[in-house]
Amino acid sequence: MSIYFKIEKWYPVAMANESLQNEFTKIFPEGTIAEPLDKYCTLKVGGPADFFCKAKDLETLKNLINFAKNSSLPYFILSGGTNVLFDDKGFRGLVIKIDFKNLEIKDEYITADAGVIVALMMNRAASSGLTGLEKWIGLPGTVGGAVRGNAGCNGLETKDVLVKATLLNPETGEIHEEEPGYFGFGYRDSKIKHSNEIVLNATFHLKKGEPQKVEDPRVFTQPKGLSAGSFFKNPSLATPAGMLIDKAGLKGTRIGNAQISEVHGNFILNLGGATAKDIKDLVALAKSTVKEKFGINLEEEVKIVGER
Ligand SMILES: Cc1cc2nc3c(=O)[nH]c(=O)nc-3n(C[C@H](O)[C@H](O)[C@H](O)COP(=O)(O)OP(=O)(O)OC[C@H]3O[C@@H](n4cnc5c(N)ncnc54)[C@H](O)[C@@H]3O)c2cc1C
Repeated sequence: MSIYFKIEKWYPVAMANESLQNEFTKIFPEGTIAEPLDKYCTLKVGGPADFFCKAKDLETLKNLINFAKNSSLPYFILSGGTNVLFDDKGFRGLVIKIDFKNLEIKDEYITADAGVIVALMMNRAASSGLTGLEKWIGLPGTVGGAVRGNAGCNGLETKDVLVKATLLNPETGEIHEEEPGYFGFGYRDSKIKHSNEIVLNATFHLKKGEPQKVEDPRVFTQPKGLSAGSFFKNPSLATPAGMLIDKAGLKGTRIGNAQISEVHGNFILNLGGATAKDIKDLVALAKSTVKEKFGINLEEEVKIVGER
């Protein structure tokens, strides 16, 4: 008689040694070993992190970073997981999910911890009679992710409303508060995107007033389904990445269970059961075809984590 086991997904055994695993779970009882990362990202792909822990406060965050440093482990800071692609083999190190969620409103200022979901901050602002964030309707992710990438939509970027943010320098443990000038914000870009500083919280200036009702035009132009939003940065306003991919004839192209959306060329969808490899192969195809046809290098907006 044969016995068959249905294996839904194959995960390589975490590489970390047992004594380090024991030490980790002793120091961080809420931490986990070989934690599947697909649960924590909107693309719903990715293998396990050797070590995983949520940081609910600054002290835990610092302790986790110190653990990683002392154990010579790479670490990765994760927030909402709306802009990341984890490798099928996962992450050989420690994934720290920022989970601070405090939010305070004082007069026209809203100060939110890095782990606060942007949509929740918008709701709180509106229910407190503050206007100014309404254009972010449909903007996924957290406050920390938004500051790092100068996220925005419908004509409102993070830099337009940010007053200050508190950062942790993980190398020195120094905490410092910075005004927008420090960040060197650009299109989906900031200075801290190229350093390893961690956003702890941010303060935004809104106005007292009736929140405006904003319709998100993107509901008609962007696909539904599992994605990480726009996969590539737009090379320029005149040449959006989606248009280039569309003109290259790649809309709807499928590899495995991943597909370049038929609706919007800059969205790569997990149709269900896609692997990171399927998605990376589509990324490579889009980049090489656009380069060949138009001589333009597409640059990923999504952070690719783990093996490439
Ligand atoms: C359907 C869909 C639509 C989208 N539309 C838009 C859009 O219109 N405009 C737009 O700008 N973006 C859009 N995005 C992308 C995404 O919402 C933003 O990039 C968002 O700001 C990412 O935040 P996050 O918390 O999910 O970050 P994550 O995905 O968790 O992380 C992204 C990167 O930020 C780093 N990071 C996260 N938190 C911190 C922190 N506290 N300190 C330092 N680094 C940190 C991570 O290490 C990683 O490198 C969309 C995504 C989806 C899925």
